[in-house]
Amino acid sequence: MIDLTRYIRDVPDFPKPGIVFKDITPLLADHQALRETIARLVDPFRHKGVEVVAAVESRGFIFGALAAGELQAALVPIRKPGKLPYRTVSQSYELEYGTDTIEVHEDAVRRGQRVLMVDDVLATGGTMAAACRLVRRLGGDILAAAFVIELAFLSGRERIGDCTVHSLIQVK
Ligand code: AMP
Repeated sequence: MIDLTRYIRDVPDFPKPGIVFKDITPLLADHQALRETIARLVDPFRHKGVEVVAAVESRGFIFGALAAGELQAALVPIRKPGKLPYRTVSQSYELEYGTDTIEVHEDAVRRGQRVLMVDDVLATGGTMAAACRLVRRLGGDILAAAFVIELAFLSGRERIGDCTVHSLIQVK
C-alpha cells in the first residue's frame, strides 16, 4: 500500500496567514498514487449501488470524476454561484466571517438515487454539510461523504452530522 501522505504537500500561510494548505498536485502528478487514491476512495462503495457521484468545486471535481468512472456512476458537479447554466437550487452556509453559497442543477439528482459525495479536503465541514443538504433537497439518498484528506482537528465530521464519513488521510 502506498503511503499517500508522501504525496500531499503542506503549504503554510496559503491562501492566508495561519492556514496550512494541503496541496494535492504531487498526488495528481503520480499516476500510481492517484490510481490507488481513487481505488481506496471508492472501495467501501463498490457493491453498494452508487448511481451518482456528487463532487464539490473545484478539486472535488478531479477525484469525483475519477471515482464516478470507477463506480460507473453519473457525475454531478456542485458549484459556486452563477457557474451552472441551467435552472439551479442553491444552499447557503455559514463561514467564520459571513456566508457562502453552492448550487446544483435542479434535475441533477432524481428522487431516491443513491449518491456518494466527494471532495478533496474535509476541514470545518461547512461546505460538505451544505452540499449534502442540496442533494437531499433533490431527493438523493446519500450513502457517504468521501474525502482524500480529513483535518480531524477541525471536527468537520460533527458538522456533517448523520452522514457517514470516509477519509483516506486523517490529520490530527
Ligand atoms: P470546509 O467547508 O471548511 O470543510 O472546507 C472545505 C473546502 O475548502 C474543501 O473544498 C477544500 O478543498 C477547501 N479547504 C479547506 N481547508 C483546506 C486546506 N487546509 N487545504 C486545502 N483545501 C482546504
